[in-house]
Amino acid sequence: MRLDNYNYMKNLTDWVDEKDIFNKDFVWPRQMEIHLPSNKEIACDFHCFYCQGSKLDMALGMDEKKALKLMEEIGPGTFEYYVYGGAYTEPLLNSYFMDFMRLTKKLKAHFGIHSNGSQLKKLQEKNGFCTELVSLMESKFDYYSCSLDAGSPESHMKTKNIKYDAWTDIIEGLKILVNEREKQKSKGSIRVAYLLNKWNSSVEELTKFIDLMKEIKVDSLRFSIPYAQYGNDVAKVQNYKQKVENKEHEKFKKLLQPYMSKSKDEKPFIFYFAPVNQDIDRMLDENYKQCAYTYYQTTMGSSGHIYRCSSIATPSFDYGILGKQPETVSELKEMIKVSQDKNFHCHTCINSTARCNRMALEINTEWNAYNKKNNYTAKTDDTLAVGPKNKRDEIKHVYKDTEKRWNKKIYAEDKLKINQDNIAIKPKSFEIYKNISQKKSSK
Ligand code: SF4
Ligand code: SF4
Repeated sequence: MRLDNYNYMKNLTDWVDEKDIFNKDFVWPRQMEIHLPSNKEIACDFHCFYCQGSKLDMALGMDEKKALKLMEEIGPGTFEYYVYGGAYTEPLLNSYFMDFMRLTKKLKAHFGIHSNGSQLKKLQEKNGFCTELVSLMESKFDYYSCSLDAGSPESHMKTKNIKYDAWTDIIEGLKILVNEREKQKSKGSIRVAYLLNKWNSSVEELTKFIDLMKEIKVDSLRFSIPYAQYGNDVAKVQNYKQKVENKEHEKFKKLLQPYMSKSKDEKPFIFYFAPVNQDIDRMLDENYKQCAYTYYQTTMGSSGHIYRCSSIATPSFDYGILGKQPETVSELKEMIKVSQDKNFHCHTCINSTARCNRMALEINTEWNAYNKKNNYTAKTDDTLAVGPKNKRDEIKHVYKDTEKRWNKKIYAEDKLKINQDNIAIKPKSFEIYKNISQKKSSK
């Protein structure tokens, strides 16, 4: 069983009519994801082994003032949601964070926050952060989601790859949020996410943790298995599916069964998102063609670029960049227009070591089943990996066709490619033959 907010295709079609997808020149996506660039010195205070961006380029070049100005100009009645999270950053480490929350509410949009929880208590003591955040929550659609991923300080340290107890303060922080919500009679949602691994999934730890969450009274508790990291080729992801996802799924499904919520009114609503929701083989299906997820969201990455989607929001996936952080709304609209493209093929991403997230997988699967007759327009583009092959964080996946690149930049690998093409098309022997015959005819 799932809560309505987690039915992504329904969320999308409540926002945009199916018949408008790929038929209108431009549609405001349902949400804008903003990956705040942390404190610009470190991307995050934790170092989770499964962190999606940690093996990729973790650029932190976004200009927050420019982003706020753009939002002011976008105004109300456009995006329904602003979602603050990160591919590799912790949003609460950003000093402009609360300005974004205040502005989101001024624009009459909902906010969603995805955070590791480490700053809640500290910021509450510093400036009453939790009190203000809760005061801005107007309905259950405004949410704070904490990626906690552990039921004890010990397993938290291992999972987050840190040497100190941050878990106890995170629990304190969640209690502060929930208490504030009760005090202020706020309707906002406080959610907890738990990625299961070998350190945090003993029956004892899970039982104790679930009891603690019930006692604190968070709204929901979602369990899942971490994704294989982006930036890996398909064979590696398939291997992860066999060795980790498939194997662990059986175990976790059985283990969690007794705790799962039976009714949507239960608090916390406890559910498990099975790995089928992130299955690479579903993305490799030959009918997995058009990307309708660009109607659901657009993403401003912490690097200071607009991207087709949040899971490719790092300069490592250069082909997914729609442009530099825009100065004006019309620039942003042009970028979104480019991304709402019936010809773009999801396999361009898969071939470039990127992958859809759970929401995108669900939406694109359902969309391509619905639009099977017309989705033949999608064509895979070739991409090229440029940069030092032994340094994954310096490799960029760029369009092979230089004209398709957002910045039209030329790389050393292009010249290599041109030379290779020349050799392939005109072999040396052909050149020699041509020269000899030319000499002969000029005699
Ligand atoms: S807390 Fe999130 S952003 Fe930070 S390292 Fe872990 S997964 Fe990455
Ligand atoms: S990763 Fe998936 S959702 Fe993102 S742009 Fe590619 S196909 Fe679309």
